[in-house]
Amino acid sequence: VIKVEKLNKWFGDLHVVKDVDLTVKQGEVIVILGPSGSGKSTFIRTLNALEEFQSGKIVIDGIELTDDLKNVEEIRKETGMVFQQFNLFPHMSILRNVSLAPIWVRKWKKDKAEQIALDLLDRVGIPEQAHKYPGQLSGGQKQRVAIARALAMQPKIMLFDEPTSALDPEMVNEVLDVMQNLAESGMTMIVVTHEMGFARKVADRLVLFDKGEVIEMAEPEEFFENPKEERTKAFLSQIL
Ligand code: ATP
Ligand code: MG
Repeated sequence: VIKVEKLNKWFGDLHVVKDVDLTVKQGEVIVILGPSGSGKSTFIRTLNALEEFQSGKIVIDGIELTDDLKNVEEIRKETGMVFQQFNLFPHMSILRNVSLAPIWVRKWKKDKAEQIALDLLDRVGIPEQAHKYPGQLSGGQKQRVAIARALAMQPKIMLFDEPTSALDPEMVNEVLDVMQNLAESGMTMIVVTHEMGFARKVADRLVLFDKGEVIEMAEPEEFFENPKEERTKAFLSQIL
């Protein structure tokens, strides 16, 4: 469902994504690892047009990402994104945060959107929070709302950019559990994370980024037990 070919992106003179190729099949979970500044965020942000790119090709669910605003809109409908900082609307209830986009973008009736929002809040384990406001929730709960909000648009693909990095340690697992359930339900996912337990358990493939390049791509077992590249070995020795 995702095909990236020879993708290149510069910020001014800075070449942050270099000839990246990646093909992701329906239902696959890809985990992206790599040092700070290696271009992980920039790469996944290009996938739903939050960043422009200068050369290469991105095709998502058969739609090629071009400057055409219609394509951009289509692709955004297909891709849900969850950020490190939850980006909830602070002045809206949790229910409204989750149901807003489907009402505006999918043109659903309020009742239908709210019913689906309630089902999703149930699925992420916080049905009782629907009528509270973001400020009244813990970080882990806020991130689960952010996941529910992304799912409310019924995306085919979910992109996660370090979804647990801003959380207190005791809240990391509640969010990873939701993500694991989502993966097991068959969702296609690309996840940037430093959570190696999650990567090992849930990922179908791991990708190591360094200086904007894909250094190594392999199944978890191979990646951790038998890495091919020196830079992968060096990276693993730093974090494990
Ligand atoms: P981290 O693990 O710290 O989140 P990352 O791998 O996600 O790092 P990116 O945020 O993609 O890295 O950044 C890649 C490079 O691009 C960095 O050198 C960064 O300083 C630079 N960069 C990111 N965003 C911009 C921007 N809007 N303008 C200019 N340079 C940027
Ligand atoms: Mg980043």
